[in-house]
Amino acid sequence: MLYHSLTNRNNLSSFEHTVLSGLSSDGDLYVPQSIPRLNPSFFEQITSYDIHHIAREVIIPYIGNSIPDDRIEEIIKNTIQFDFPIKNIHDNIYALELFHGPTLAFKDIGAKFMSECLSYFYEKIGKKFTVLVATSGDTGGAVAKGFNNKSGIEVIILYPHNGISPLQEKQIASLNSSNVFALEIFGNFDDCQKMVKKAFSDKQIKKKYTLTSANSINTARLLPQMFYYFSAYKNIKEMYGGKKIIFSVPSGNFGNICAGMIAERMGLPIHGFVASTNINDTIPRFMKSGIYHPINVKKTISNAMDIANPSNFPRIWNFLYKKNMFSLKKKLSSFRFTDYNTLSMIKKVWKNHKYMLDPHGAVGYLGATKYLYKDPKTPYLSVFLETAHPVKFLDKIPFSLRKEVFFPKKIKKFLKSIGEVKKNAIKNNFNEFKNWLLDRSI
Ligand SMILES: *Cc1c(COP(=O)(O)O)cnc(C)c1O
Repeated sequence: MLYHSLTNRNNLSSFEHTVLSGLSSDGDLYVPQSIPRLNPSFFEQITSYDIHHIAREVIIPYIGNSIPDDRIEEIIKNTIQFDFPIKNIHDNIYALELFHGPTLAFKDIGAKFMSECLSYFYEKIGKKFTVLVATSGDTGGAVAKGFNNKSGIEVIILYPHNGISPLQEKQIASLNSSNVFALEIFGNFDDCQKMVKKAFSDKQIKKKYTLTSANSINTARLLPQMFYYFSAYKNIKEMYGGKKIIFSVPSGNFGNICAGMIAERMGLPIHGFVASTNINDTIPRFMKSGIYHPINVKKTISNAMDIANPSNFPRIWNFLYKKNMFSLKKKLSSFRFTDYNTLSMIKKVWKNHKYMLDPHGAVGYLGATKYLYKDPKTPYLSVFLETAHPVKFLDKIPFSLRKEVFFPKKIKKFLKSIGEVKKNAIKNNFNEFKNWLLDRSI
């Protein structure tokens, strides 16, 4: 499989090249040349396969000659070390829990998969990589954990001062790691992202470092996110036979939902998707009016989705749906919800069903119910992605419910084991960042 950029079909790259460069040389997203269709018998027999087998079938066509098959098998085993359980909340509404990984968010899957691919490329090329990444919270933790102590790779994570939760900061900045470094920036997430972008085009920095980015547009993060859509389908087929499935995905950069839509193109029987957003609602507005008009980001309690210009959406609109609103609307609905909606729903679902949603999952739940209530007699089964564990966003959970939030053993152990958060802060100033990079020894 080769990849081309969204704007130039003739600019072809291998999987390896897309992972190492992030964006194409014309500064655009990479997309696969074509989407392979899986054999219908694969779906008929899916309940007899384990998740590692399923993941192999799904991902191998995308990797081509970049990584040998037996190594891919190992990468998958190292990536999928936990379950993606489905829980019935009530009626035909289900949660797909994606928070059972090491940092309790779905980003563990993509980050670990990418770190494993980079390890292989390092062994092959023998050149040390530096991964530069900006985080609004969950990416940083997942990348720090996924890359921790990987030889030949160092990771520098930029995070905004006062922009991430205390637990998220601990997950990034108290690791005592030999190869993961956290830098607090006195600015917001966009400022961090701008600094990273600028570093990629700076000659002096590039002379010293071989830079790679680990943000959610990277193909090695995007594609493995298909695994849990397949796993969900398998589990539902086992439990309920061939019911039609709607996935509601709490969306920010639209990478998670884009992976689901690619899975559907591979033949996975998914009836439709709901892109659920907070009040940063560029896509719900676009789907209503046909006008793409991002406005300034607003802060919400589902802060991992505080994004105005979703970086993966062009993959859906330009590549998967060829800018055809009619066919897009047949597969995708998109709704926006306020913080008030979100908090009320966290309380209501706890009161009625004793299930604790995190703010992102709550937005997903709202989308799932809204879709079904359009048609109360619907034969569909609606699955929302619970993208993080509520303990990660304890400070956003209604005060009266905080004592009810379950602390997973992993977190208790982690909190006991860590030392102080080591602050390494710089001003929101590119030259300061640049000097920091140029002065340090590698
Ligand atoms: C990153 C994140 C999202 C948004 O996912 P996208 O792929 O950017 O749409 C949703 N929920 C949580 C908890 C996240 O960390």
